[in-house]
Amino acid sequence: MAHNMLRAVLLGPPGAGKGTQAAKVIEKYNVPHISTGDIFRANIKEGTELGKKAKGYMDEGKLVPDELVVNLVTDRLQKDDCKEGFLLDGFPRTIFQAEQLDKFLSENGQKLDIVLNFKVRKDVLIERIAGRRVCKSCGASFHVVNVPPKKEGICDVCGGELFQRKDDNRETVENRINVYESETAPLIGYYEKQNVLANFDGEKTHNEVFEDVVKAIEAK
Ligand code: AMP
Repeated sequence: MAHNMLRAVLLGPPGAGKGTQAAKVIEKYNVPHISTGDIFRANIKEGTELGKKAKGYMDEGKLVPDELVVNLVTDRLQKDDCKEGFLLDGFPRTIFQAEQLDKFLSENGQKLDIVLNFKVRKDVLIERIAGRRVCKSCGASFHVVNVPPKKEGICDVCGGELFQRKDDNRETVENRINVYESETAPLIGYYEKQNVLANFDGEKTHNEVFEDVVKAIEAK
């Protein structure tokens, strides 16, 4: 296949399927997956200063303050493996973060090719998140009913152990969806104005959504 260069952002509420589509996109386009949530969770596990600062916010379903997030991402984007592109997942989540990202990209002579926005109704999101199970080792995502692993509690991809994210409980999920509506949803209009937004029906099957995503990327 021809060499692909892709600079993309995944946008959508928790449970919209960003992580699932991310895994497919990075495989096809061979770009690094930069998930700020994954980076924070790894820092919490390792007990770093950043992890300690982020944990309280995450456990409550609140956003980690912008000043802890932006440098983390811009440092990551300066690494060699991002020269040919990247897939951002869970960043930006506020208008401020989006502006800082634009500033970084323009200073580096880059711009986003596409922002992939996934729409899913709220009741579907809650049901998906409540049943979500994630692999401790590789991060692959399953659902106890909709996408069950072949063997309960075990990752199909790598054999790792599946667990439920601490913030995937019903109360925290409501918070996260509200935070999405107030802080992150305004990014839809922000990127629409930049002419980089592509909308997807996130309630289709994973494979159908991915087909739509590939079509939108190829059309850019
Ligand atoms: P996620 O894995 O994307 O659902 O993120 C899990 C949690 O990490 C969020 O609920 C926030 O507390 C925090 N987080 C991840 N990315 C960001 C971001 N870009 N800005 C602020 N907080 C974030």
